[in-house]
Amino acid sequence: MVIVCEAIAGDTIKFGLLQDGQPYPDINEYHKKFEKPVLTYKLHNLSNDIAKAEHQTRAVTVAFQVWRLRIKNLRFRRIYDDEKPDLDIWFRPQSYFGSAGVLAHATFPGQSKFYIEINDGWDWVSHAAIADIGHPPIVPIMIHEIGHVLGLVHDTFSNLSIMYPSFNLGAKKNDLYTRDVNRIQWLYGVRSLRQRIIDYFRRRRDAGWDFD
Ligand SMILES: [Zn+2]
Repeated sequence: MVIVCEAIAGDTIKFGLLQDGQPYPDINEYHKKFEKPVLTYKLHNLSNDIAKAEHQTRAVTVAFQVWRLRIKNLRFRRIYDDEKPDLDIWFRPQSYFGSAGVLAHATFPGQSKFYIEINDGWDWVSHAAIADIGHPPIVPIMIHEIGHVLGLVHDTFSNLSIMYPSFNLGAKKNDLYTRDVNRIQWLYGVRSLRQRIIDYFRRRRDAGWDFD
């Protein structure tokens, strides 16, 4: 079963401004990135599907960490209660989504609204190790949607890319593909971490160790 993501452009989007030095000329990159050094986000509610709330919040944290491990010039911070975040994250009922096949929505940076919405019409699980064809995992879907809010458009070159526009619920996907890494580093700089550290966190995601 293949399920799609819909990235919302709003009325300010301009695609097709090919900029010097971008890693992949076959992609018409979005014209903006997130400009502040710290992106704050608020998880406004939780899915009804997952018994442990801590597993849901951790799934979101883990997804941000996947990008953070690779980039130098942007950090992420979760905020609570009264504070106003840069990014709003919501679980929404099916009625918010045009098609039942849409897993999530996200907007691009620099628009009047800046959010990720996850379709709670689906029966979610926290991570890919326990996902199956009827139960999409939050971690890889959130990695993908965070890619949009950081300014990445879909990449149709290979379905190995986390920014591929659809998600095969039968296959496990937990990490960035080479093109994802190169594109995000073009926007936010290269974080020089030892490969074994990056691999360690990938193994954690694959095994679901973050959710014991
Ligand atoms: Zn998408």
